[in-house]
Amino acid sequence: MSNERYEQSHFIKWCLEHPGPYTPSEEIELRKEAMAALVESVKAGDITSLDGAESPLSERIRAQHGVTDFEMNSNWVGSSQDWICPCCGRSKFQVSRVGKRGQILAKLVVHHDHMSEAMKAAFHSAFEAAGTRVEQIDGWRLVERMRDAFAAYAEVLVCEDCNNADTEAKKLAGSPSYFSFSIGQIRRLIRSADHRPHLVEPVRAEEVWAEAEPAYKLRIKLISAVAHAAATDAHWYEPHARAADPIPVFGFARRSVESEIIRWAYADPLLRTLGANTKVSTPNLSRWRQVAQKPGKQLPANYLAMLRTEESHGRSWEALPDDWRCPVCYRSKHELVYVGEQGKVIFAMKLVTARGAWASLTRICNHCESTLRSLKWEGAQRAGKAARDSYSFVEPGELSRIIVARPHSAHVIREKEAQELLADVVQRISEAR
Ligand SMILES: [Zn+2]
Ligand SMILES: [Zn+2]
Repeated sequence: MSNERYEQSHFIKWCLEHPGPYTPSEEIELRKEAMAALVESVKAGDITSLDGAESPLSERIRAQHGVTDFEMNSNWVGSSQDWICPCCGRSKFQVSRVGKRGQILAKLVVHHDHMSEAMKAAFHSAFEAAGTRVEQIDGWRLVERMRDAFAAYAEVLVCEDCNNADTEAKKLAGSPSYFSFSIGQIRRLIRSADHRPHLVEPVRAEEVWAEAEPAYKLRIKLISAVAHAAATDAHWYEPHARAADPIPVFGFARRSVESEIIRWAYADPLLRTLGANTKVSTPNLSRWRQVAQKPGKQLPANYLAMLRTEESHGRSWEALPDDWRCPVCYRSKHELVYVGEQGKVIFAMKLVTARGAWASLTRICNHCESTLRSLKWEGAQRAGKAARDSYSFVEPGELSRIIVARPHSAHVIREKEAQELLADVVQRISEAR
């Protein structure tokens, strides 16, 4: 990047004119100006450490493909225009290609090893199998600290084609779900060309997996041993050093972007603004009331020790009296506990801070909160404007009536009632000032 152009950019001139200090409310106003100056400087090509739908690189990519619409993700926007995929060695320009909907695909993803999930699953299953009746807080911390130690490689930003090649190669080679190929291994099994997805060579995929398999099996064995020790109080504790910065995306804590940008821009709104007009497909916000939720798993006999192992869950559990019930779904404390991903036992409450009909409630369960949030998002989307806050568009009793509560499970939503309530919510959001 040309440092000189950065120093001369509209954004830096704006920064020099606004040395501060400012009060928090002044800062909020000024951030909008800063953001506009930043977006303009990216567009002008003076700042290249960030990207966006209007960057010079994007203009070049448009001209190459003769297409205007982008489907760009935040990793693409938040990384430098000079970025090169460490796996296939292609530049962003070479990675760009036209997708099925006639849009230009511009996506980078974080490629990671699944050993930490394997480790968590092994911990929860060893905990349940051992039937330990005492929480294992240090053991869980050990797992949290150790889980990166068994990864074959550190997380790294790659182009979407490289990440897809990993998935395809795993299918071809029949390798287990917790395994993934490292970027060095992916490089060996693909044939790469500009503006095209990679070709995965099946014979190479099998070869590379055969080479990797013994080490993978050894890691799984070690993981089981550590998880067992951690879950049964036979563990040690040891801090584990963090790796350097392998994910050069604005918004990830460890990236050193120019300090002026860090001072004035919040990652989420900035990345959204830079890539704002690039959405091709919209998410289905009606899913929450249309999907049949499966009943949850049965709780392990020692579920209480397992939930206390996550300290925040244990604190929520202690803070509430034994006869407490969620004021929306009326489930008891015991009924609210459920088995989550990788066999983790979960008891998660959400604090309520609201006026009106919600004022007398202090906490609701996370399943009720998730229903409330889904109703808000779909209502806002249909009303074409944001809800004023997270509560005022609905009353707790109304929410209760669209829920079928079941122990240890996510809620089933009453379809007809939900649709009627949604219509009311849309109207309320539209009319709210
Ligand atoms: Zn790549
Ligand atoms: Zn509830």
